Amino acid sequence: MIIVHLKPGREKSLLRRHPWIFSGAIDRVVGEPASGETVGVRSADGAFLGWGAWSPASQIRLRMWRFGEGEPPGPALFRERIARALALRRALPENLLEPESACRLIHAESDGLPGMIVDRYGPWLVAQFLSAGAEAWREELLAALREALEEIPCQGIYERSGADAREKEGLPPRSGRLWGEEPPELVPFVEGPCRLLADPRLGHKTGFYLDQRLNRAAVARWATGREVLNVFSYTGGFGLRALMAGASRVTQLDSSGPSLALGRQILALNGLPEERVEEIEDNAFERMRRFRDSRRAFDLIILDPPKFAETSAQVEKAARAYKDINLLGCKLLRPGGILATFSCSGGMETPLFRKIVADAALDAGRDAQVVESLGQPGDHPVNLAFPEGEYLKGVICRVG
Ligand code: SAH
Repeated sequence: MIIVHLKPGREKSLLRRHPWIFSGAIDRVVGEPASGETVGVRSADGAFLGWGAWSPASQIRLRMWRFGEGEPPGPALFRERIARALALRRALPENLLEPESACRLIHAESDGLPGMIVDRYGPWLVAQFLSAGAEAWREELLAALREALEEIPCQGIYERSGADAREKEGLPPRSGRLWGEEPPELVPFVEGPCRLLADPRLGHKTGFYLDQRLNRAAVARWATGREVLNVFSYTGGFGLRALMAGASRVTQLDSSGPSLALGRQILALNGLPEERVEEIEDNAFERMRRFRDSRRAFDLIILDPPKFAETSAQVEKAARAYKDINLLGCKLLRPGGILATFSCSGGMETPLFRKIVADAALDAGRDAQVVESLGQPGDHPVNLAFPEGEYLKGVICRVG
């Protein structure tokens, strides 16, 4: 058994059940672990702390599979963790396991399975193995998943292990059919009153932004009779939901032509009148400046930008981008308008995000009041021992 010995004092986070060990916390390694190999972890005074997966390429050198004594990871542990993850989804008050609905079934570290993500779109699953440990155990994890799925109809499992996260772990990107049938090019599913389509092969993440499900519903409640600007719209989820709720008009703005085109297809699927929707393919910063210069105004603006900060080190630069976009958002709102603004940067904590929005309102000379605070839905749980799992935050403000 390969053993990793930590430096004195560096066992503290592990004792609080935080699953990451950074390279700087490691004193020495007895043995030569391969990428993803299971290692035992001991504190400087020799206490056994648990089992982790070795990741030689990453700053996060170890991700814990299990804390304390107990069997090393293997099929039994994977079955137990997956069963627990499914039990949580079953317990959520939203009927997320209905045949046509979609949700995240496994949310990596936050469900005790570091690096493993599984999203479900109706009978199709899309999986990601994003850490060296998950990669090393992929067959066993997949077998445990299939066993657990016996009660959920599943036609096929497709892999969409994205390049960015895997690169940090020294793994090449990987995608393709893992089990069962190939999913169709576009996978239909239902979210509230909307019929949606996910593109598991070319779409973002596993094909759709499932994490904004409840926030799309929350924002739509403010949309009735309002003229909406949906910035960073992707395939238009927020805008579609707003239309369903009676928005008078929606402008979907995104730099990705294919995403907007798919949005148009989704709109048709829902039988909504095309003349109430306008799509603009452009850089959001530039187009919003042009709107400001031409004095175009809206009643509800949604800002759901991509992750501007990957790490806390990039937060400062990201803060400027968030400030810019929120400043423009405030300026484009009619008096009494609604700003629904989000950040999905894990490195940006809620207080800082709020301060940025506050600064933006101040610079725009507008008075802004938070009327709703938003976060992640229960199928993207945050394990309290792992605050890094909390990445999505948002506020709905009334801008005077
Ligand atoms: N709100 C969406 C998800 C948004 S994801 C939903 O609910 O599904 C972020 C989007 O921002 C992506 O679609 C990406 O294409 C777009 N994007 C990234 N940089 C951009 C920029 N500078 N201008 C406009 N769109 C951008």
